Amino acid sequence: MTDPAAQIDARDERLAQNEVIFRTVNESIEQQAIKFGGLDSYEFICECSSTECFSRVGLTLEEYEHIRSEGVRFFVLPGHANIEVEVVVEAKDDYCVVEKDGAAGIVADLADPRDGDPVSFQP
Ligand SMILES: [Zn+2]
Repeated sequence: MTDPAAQIDARDERLAQNEVIFRTVNESIEQQAIKFGGLDSYEFICECSSTECFSRVGLTLEEYEHIRSEGVRFFVLPGHANIEVEVVVEAKDDYCVVEKDGAAGIVADLADPRDGDPVSFQP
């Protein structure tokens, strides 16, 4: 006997894990961006739940930090949001900010490398 609710949670969790991996990649892109200085935009990787997507999203460090300030928020290209596990909370021309809910939100928040601490990039 399988519990349908548990199955949905497991799938949400897997989708969230994928986004968490890309967030880790983007954290190291940000570290490089800080090292090389400047407040121009940098190419981060779309954090959508697709394992096939390696699309670039241009964000300034300021925009990136704004998104990262919430452990359950990710950025994706317009149209890449998965409405089954997340809601769009900000829609910009080049990207959307999504927020996880349910099991996916818990996974995302627990895996947050920041624990809410902002990274300072101002000189
Ligand atoms: Zn994507």
